[in-house]
Amino acid sequence: MPGIPLSVLITGANRGLGLELVRQMAEGPSPIRHLLACCRDPDGPNSQALQDLAKRHPEVVTVIPLDVTDLGSILRCSQWVGSLVGAGGLNLLINNAAILTKDTMQTASPQDMLAAFNTNALGPFNLTKTLLPHLRTAAAASETAAMSCSKAAVINIGSFMSSINRTSQGYGSQPAFSYRVSKAALHMLTVCAARDFRQSEILFAVLHPGWVKSAMGGERAVMEASESARRLIHVMFSLTEEQNGAFLNNEGAPLPW
Ligand code: NDP
Repeated sequence: MPGIPLSVLITGANRGLGLELVRQMAEGPSPIRHLLACCRDPDGPNSQALQDLAKRHPEVVTVIPLDVTDLGSILRCSQWVGSLVGAGGLNLLINNAAILTKDTMQTASPQDMLAAFNTNALGPFNLTKTLLPHLRTAAAASETAAMSCSKAAVINIGSFMSSINRTSQGYGSQPAFSYRVSKAALHMLTVCAARDFRQSEILFAVLHPGWVKSAMGGERAVMEASESARRLIHVMFSLTEEQNGAFLNNEGAPLPW
């Protein structure tokens, strides 16, 4: 766990896994300077729990409007982030926001494919690129040489459903065609970025949260969002240079691409 107060940005922070990540980081023992909890409708009914959480931790949690499919929204978010984090930079970006449609290759329309790609792959791409100056600032400001989530890192929340290796053996219970394809793109983005930004000492990894009870995971899922978030936080802060570009489960074990 980190010793120096960190700045962390989480997308899709108003419900599900994103909300739990914010809650546990805000209420946990790790020293957090800024928790930038991004969601697309901060004043809407689906953001009430996040607003309540922010009210309980006003020094740490800042709710920022962000639609990851809207470049203007991303630019406004980045300006806000810069004004908050300043010379310390942004240590950790968690690309968590995503959509899943229950489609197949037969039923998915081109619009479904674009919507999934825009949210699940292009969103993280645009946001990461836009926030890179703040991540670079954090890497440069860090006193440690080793890569880590306490220094500068991008964690992309991926999915075992988008493991090509696993899907070649069957769909399981859910085709979710557009989702699988778009998250596989996110996985590849992560591997490329891990290579590209190694010199900049920014760590990239994909984490699979498990099958989690949420609007996306459904009630039959095997794990509460709180348990998944607890495990993911532990894994994130255990990552080293060795896991740069890795695809890991919620216990930190490697998964097949
Ligand atoms: P939820 O459906 O519960 O939450 C999705 C979040 O993404 C919401 O906060 C939603 O905001 C946000 N979001 C969607 N589109 C956008 C957008 N354009 N801009 C900003 N935010 C957006 O999902 P989970 O919490 O279960 O999933 C979290 C992550 O975990 C996702 O990346 C998912 O793919 C991954 N995952 C989940 C699994 C599970 O079993 N649940 C399994 C494997 C991976 P809004 O309220 O505005 O819609």
